Amino acid sequence: MFYHVKELQFNARVSKPDPRFARLLLEQFGGGNGELKAAMQYFVQAFSCKNPYPDKYDLLMDIATEEFSHLEIVGATITMLLNGVNGQMKDAVESSPLADMMNGKATKEEYIHRALFYPQFDVLTAGGPTVTDSNGAPWTGAYVNANSDLTVDLRSNIAAESRAKIVYEYLMKFTDDPYVKETLGFLMTREITHFQQFEAALDTIQPNFPPGVLQEDPRHGNLYFNMSQGQDAEGPWNEGTSTRTKEEWNRIDDPLDFVCRTNGLTDITPGDSVPSNDDLRKLDEELSRTRSQEVTSATPMEDISWSTYGEEMQPKTHRTRKVKEKA
Ligand code: MN
Ligand code: MN
Repeated sequence: MFYHVKELQFNARVSKPDPRFARLLLEQFGGGNGELKAAMQYFVQAFSCKNPYPDKYDLLMDIATEEFSHLEIVGATITMLLNGVNGQMKDAVESSPLADMMNGKATKEEYIHRALFYPQFDVLTAGGPTVTDSNGAPWTGAYVNANSDLTVDLRSNIAAESRAKIVYEYLMKFTDDPYVKETLGFLMTREITHFQQFEAALDTIQPNFPPGVLQEDPRHGNLYFNMSQGQDAEGPWNEGTSTRTKEEWNRIDDPLDFVCRTNGLTDITPGDSVPSNDDLRKLDEELSRTRSQEVTSATPMEDISWSTYGEEMQPKTHRTRKVKEKA
């Protein structure tokens, strides 16, 4: 269950209303790299971990819940940045800014400017956040990546945290409000934290490469296709050995010729640095058994209940380290 606490996780404040920045900040409320996406992604991923990987379930639900707390901070900040707008919109027609605009009074320029960006934001919500990105595109479940495989999901999360972080970094360039900057700095920092937490969780799963269960086809894993003409770059992506499987790169400079000579890449004898097909398929069998057992052995097939209301409800010993508080 969820339990709402009225205090925000971070003391969000604004110096003064700024509808223009409110609209930009909407990107992190209902946008593709925003807090709702992050919250829903980790929340959805957590379900399949509940029994087989309770430690990752705990992590995913903790971070998902923190992301909901960030969503609340972003929504609160948007609302504060729009302070006054809702009241003005509800005012009787004659004294509203819209009426002023129609009568050619002072705010016309400003309203046209804002309307050009995203008129629905003013007209539909008039004072609070809406579940769209900053251009009005509605939030969609398609933003959520969840594949019920931790070696895949945790990597999706590391990528999601990277994107959330850079969007906050960009957003900070569009406000001079020191309070808003402080809040954005907090939100950005937490994405750096989550990045490391997901990375650490991925490290606890061994082996975790390649993502998923099955190993490669040894004929194709170490090929670099030079698919362009002109100046070619060299780097660890096509020179030396590959980062994880440590196979020697085989650089194919004439892909068309190579494809024809190898009967469409089927007649290839892998080099010495590449494991044999038999060894790889043996690995497939072992890992299949391990991963499948991890899940099935932890998954009850009858009298199924999600919660036990026993031990897991007992408060744990607090391990919060003392935080320096300002006097
Ligand atoms: Mn966040
Ligand atoms: Mn995060």
